[in-house]
Amino acid sequence: HLIEEINAQKKELIGMLAANTAHEIKNPLTSVRGFVELLELKYDREGKNPHFSIVMKEIDRITDIVGQFLLLGKPTELNNEPTDVVAVVKHTLNFMKYDFDVHQMRLVSSYRHPELYTMMSADQLKQVLINILQNAKEAIPEERNGIIDIKVQLQDDIIITIRDNGVGISEHELKRLFEPFYTTKIAGTGLGLPVTRNMIELAGGKLDVLSTVNVGTTFIIRLPLIQS
Ligand code: ADP
Ligand code: MG
Repeated sequence: HLIEEINAQKKELIGMLAANTAHEIKNPLTSVRGFVELLELKYDREGKNPHFSIVMKEIDRITDIVGQFLLLGKPTELNNEPTDVVAVVKHTLNFMKYDFDVHQMRLVSSYRHPELYTMMSADQLKQVLINILQNAKEAIPEERNGIIDIKVQLQDDIIITIRDNGVGISEHELKRLFEPFYTTKIAGTGLGLPVTRNMIELAGGKLDVLSTVNVGTTFIIRLPLIQS
């Protein structure tokens, strides 16, 4: 219990620190980006010098990371609203399908119910699904026939399971999976999963993971059902 208490406090502190720092970084960053654009207009109207776009791309990367920091803290405005989980899952898969096709990976989905409502912003739910699906994609080696299986079911709560046949996660890695900045990728941020879990918990849900090395990984999202 004491450990749980300390972990909860640690999480809240990290969230607060991250969100406040992010807020302070965002404004000067926007201004820096604006001035780089001005410099490019003044000194490189024809866009021959790649340095300007490199600087702007790097600024955009920082903005992206900082944006995720903001999500680690408790958002002041949750914008939770009744959202049809089935519709958002279908929409997100449709929207990501092309990307999976390009990598010759198969998305298989099944739905037991025509619609299932929870209290969560549709945008956040979409972001949750994108984060998990993106990780699944990145976990499948090129030479493997990638299959990602998505199921939406009802067992008191709404259960979304996302299973991949990727490299899997070792017992040791599993312990650190939701720590901010934990990543095994060269260009990873290690913010996807902590942000994802935070968004799910703020909607009253839970995020769990099961994995076997070399066989694959299953993420289980549990969200409270509401009457539509
Ligand atoms: P990032 O994707 O930037 O590394 P995440 O928080 O999204 O950060 O994920 C953290 C780490 O968890 C990843 O670097 C990876 O090692 C591991 N991981 C997440 N999802 C999967 C998955 N489906 N299969 C294998 N490893 C995963
Ligand atoms: Mg990720």
